[in-house]
Amino acid sequence: MRGVLLSGLFASTLIVPLSARTPASAPPTRVVILGTGTPNADPDRSGPAVAIIAGGEAYLVDAGPGIVRRAALASQVDSIPALAPPRLGRVFLTHLHSDHTVGLPDLIFTPWVLGRTTPLEIYGPPGTSRMAGLLEQAYSEDIEIRLHGGEPSNKTGYAATAHDVAAGVVYRDSNVTVTAFEVAHGKWPHAFGYRFQTRNRTIVVSGDTRPTDAVVRACNGCDVLVHEVYSAEQFARRTAEWQAYHAAYHTSTTELAEIASRARPKLLVLYHQLYWGDDDAALLRQIRARYSGQVVSARDTGVY
Ligand SMILES: [Zn+2]
Ligand SMILES: [Zn+2]
Repeated sequence: MRGVLLSGLFASTLIVPLSARTPASAPPTRVVILGTGTPNADPDRSGPAVAIIAGGEAYLVDAGPGIVRRAALASQVDSIPALAPPRLGRVFLTHLHSDHTVGLPDLIFTPWVLGRTTPLEIYGPPGTSRMAGLLEQAYSEDIEIRLHGGEPSNKTGYAATAHDVAAGVVYRDSNVTVTAFEVAHGKWPHAFGYRFQTRNRTIVVSGDTRPTDAVVRACNGCDVLVHEVYSAEQFARRTAEWQAYHAAYHTSTTELAEIASRARPKLLVLYHQLYWGDDDAALLRQIRARYSGQVVSARDTGVY
């Protein structure tokens, strides 16, 4: 597919050398939650997406619906120039569930229309390159008109460069080393969490997963653990069929408290929350009953 290439599989380890840390004077790494939502179309919660801001650059995780508009909002209200739409240049997909990828064509094409001249770099599990190629095909009429229909568009920023990756170090530059690790998301053959090691912080994003030691190992005293969660109390009212599904695919407040106690993050951020009628206070109460560390329940455009 034009503009899309398959990079082949990376293989490496979770160990990041200590030399990747310091100096203390580097600008602080920030975690911006662009969307906390789920497939439920809650107008206050955009689709799942997280931005790690390091060295003045944005490193995105997942592309839920609304990602570009939430990034534009965060660039303004939180004064983060790296999140201005034309600067959204790379994304790491945890898995290919639609609620995490419906915003991908938005992320490929909207920043281009707004001036991004380089292709979007996409990293994700097997199937990512195929998805990117098919999206380029799906939008071929639009691309043709914008390139050759008289619009003063740039001729280079529309494409996506997609990489199907395996667990291990998947990306490295002067700001960050990004390591993918396999998590346990029901029947998905490959679903990732990501660990971002910057000059001054270690951030772990769980992706969608049932409780897994992989998150404990990846965090291991990390600065921020962004973890998906559902209400254990409301789970009890779900049908047996849904209970079986959620137990295989996701993590309850009770289970997350146990994971966090072992992972020991300096800050636990609840994310991709399934409330089923509960609110943030109820989720936090359930977590705090079994976990004594710092914890917050994320909101869209929250900075941590
Ligand atoms: Zn999922
Ligand atoms: Zn999900």
